[in-house]
Amino acid sequence: MFSSVLIANRGEIACRIARTAKRLGLRTIAVYSEADAQALHVRVCDEAYLIGPPPAAQSYLVMDKIIAVAKASGADCIHPGYGFLSENAGFAQACADAGIVFVGPPPDAIRAMGLKDRAKALMEKAGVPVVPGFHGDMQEPKFLQRKAYEIGYPVLIKAVAGGGGKGMRKVERHADFDAALEAAQREAQNAFGDARVLIEKYVSAPRHIEVQVFADGHGNAIHLNERDCSLQRRHQKVIEEAPAPGMSADLRARMGQAAVAAALAVGYQGAGTVEFIADSAGGLKDDGFWFMEMNTRLQVEHPVTEAVTGLDLVEWQFRIAAGETLPLKQDQVRLDGYAVEARLYAEDPERGFLPSTGKLVALRFPKADGLRVDTGVEAGDTVTPFYDPMIAKIIAHGATRNDALDALANALEATVVAGPRSNAGFLAALARADAFRQGDFDTGFIDAHLGELGATRQGLDRAAAARGAEMLLAQERARLASAGSASPWDADDAFQLSGARTLSLPLIAEGESVTAQVSYGHGVPVVSIDGTPAASDAVAIAAEDAVYVLRAGRQTKVTLRDLALDEAGDAGGGGLVRAPMHGKVLAVLVEKGTAVTRGQRVAIIEAMKMEHTLTAPVDGTVAEVAVEQGAQVPEGAKVLLIEAASAPSP
Ligand code: ADP
Ligand code: ADP
Ligand code: MG
Repeated sequence: MFSSVLIANRGEIACRIARTAKRLGLRTIAVYSEADAQALHVRVCDEAYLIGPPPAAQSYLVMDKIIAVAKASGADCIHPGYGFLSENAGFAQACADAGIVFVGPPPDAIRAMGLKDRAKALMEKAGVPVVPGFHGDMQEPKFLQRKAYEIGYPVLIKAVAGGGGKGMRKVERHADFDAALEAAQREAQNAFGDARVLIEKYVSAPRHIEVQVFADGHGNAIHLNERDCSLQRRHQKVIEEAPAPGMSADLRARMGQAAVAAALAVGYQGAGTVEFIADSAGGLKDDGFWFMEMNTRLQVEHPVTEAVTGLDLVEWQFRIAAGETLPLKQDQVRLDGYAVEARLYAEDPERGFLPSTGKLVALRFPKADGLRVDTGVEAGDTVTPFYDPMIAKIIAHGATRNDALDALANALEATVVAGPRSNAGFLAALARADAFRQGDFDTGFIDAHLGELGATRQGLDRAAAARGAEMLLAQERARLASAGSASPWDADDAFQLSGARTLSLPLIAEGESVTAQVSYGHGVPVVSIDGTPAASDAVAIAAEDAVYVLRAGRQTKVTLRDLALDEAGDAGGGGLVRAPMHGKVLAVLVEKGTAVTRGQRVAIIEAMKMEHTLTAPVDGTVAEVAVEQGAQVPEGAKVLLIEAASAPSP
């Protein structure tokens, strides 16, 4: 076994790898960017080295720097985690050239599976069923369009170099093919520097079922059962589970064999995942699954497999990389109970899942038997715009599928994330969704149920806002009491009218201007907003000048409205356009004096490689442009001020 490891990654996966490495007695070496100087992965490792500025392209993706740190620190091996350099054959080769073991498959195996078209061709030869379609060198649009017609609509256009759901377009009708092809190619060129695509039959009622495989350097390969990752958004996994609902032992053995054959065909070693797409119309079928791709690394969702097999997959990776044989034979692999994982993200489901950055003013997870939380951040840390905004993975293991889903939903509802918004409430709703519980779902489930899952704009939660007002009031009273002054909010001041006394407290709740009514019946203030009393089932957290109220996984931010600071039109539903998140101003589409109508596009901001269009909130005239094209703006920054056209007098 090795005596030290350099972990070439960050966040939860770096922490998770360090945990096993420490248990095995390895010295752990972290690398970090300037944005991560205080990060948890730096704190949990024995040593840490700065490798560059925040952007991954200048730090976590720079092979030379990482290899240099590995050499200087005397690392025996490098674990790449997932993402970043994990599927980079050149990096695996560079490690070997430097005499350092790469904890992963040989460079040739990574290369063989790296491009989807080549991988599919190899798999066909190895007798593994592949999704029907066209993969080849011919990329001429007319030719591809004819192929799509022959395959039969709907089809899926995929970037051959693809990953993370990028460069992928579903096409329903012949007439839409050209535009979709162009979009897929453009996205593929931007993301991967390779515009080539392949075309696949779009499988109906698709379920994503993948098989965890392991191979050693002595010719042995086994599988560790399947995971179902069909709950997806934009072709990205949201909830994963094992075993797959409706999977028979017989079909499991068939898919397992196909996955092992795939691994053996490319001389695989270490942990890998063979992803299949299954046609679930009328139930899973023996001949109804096809190879999509192989991920030649540890997968984000590996903990569900660990839960049902009782194994530590990272330990297996180290053992195999150190030259040991597979610890178990196929018939010794267990499958106990049901496990389900949810990816907790700093994002806003109500606003198209927009990433939500900022300081985590509170972060708390529940503890329970069978519950596992893998995270890379703590309260006080900041979710930056530089990396994937995942906060944690929450994994529940139970005797039955419903037990596991109940435990997951309960855990999500008891999780406290304050500061950035999170998808906790959305994930809990998913874990409780009836059809999903009944196994009646496919990859289209989330998109088809956005409304029921709370992923559309909801109005202000007045009960939560009132709870926030209650806390602001208590703070204000405490502040004035300690300053020795009489508080205007004190019920026992001399100015008591007959019966209840009511005061109005102006607030900003979720950007909306509201007024809380505070009434003192018998000395205890009772707070309500528009007649809705403060919620008693909410968690309120005060930080800086705000109170963050969490109710059913949803956050309501409340601050006192300082009337003197009110900007024209701000908060009162007027014409102030703010940046919805930290990002770069790609374009300002209007200038001072431009007449605009409500809903008109006025600026474009780019964050997390996604473009977000800002629109005019009111009809009016642009009174001020507060940013320049190319500027970086923080969340909440003023972008434009629009002077509302005066409303017709009544
Ligand atoms: P999986 O099937 O394991 O989710 P993905 O290919 O979607 O695999 O990516 C794995 C994880 O790594 C995802 O959470 C993704 O956001 C992250 N990731 C992928 N590429 C990068 C990258 N270049 N930098 C940072 N994170 C990345
Ligand atoms: P990536 O490299 O981005 O992970 P995949 O080939 O694994 O790309 O596809 C991503 C997702 O797209 C899958 O998990 C699945 O939900 C969906 N998908 C892929 N191929 C098909 C297909 N032929 N039919 C239906 N859905 C598909
Ligand atoms: Mg995939």
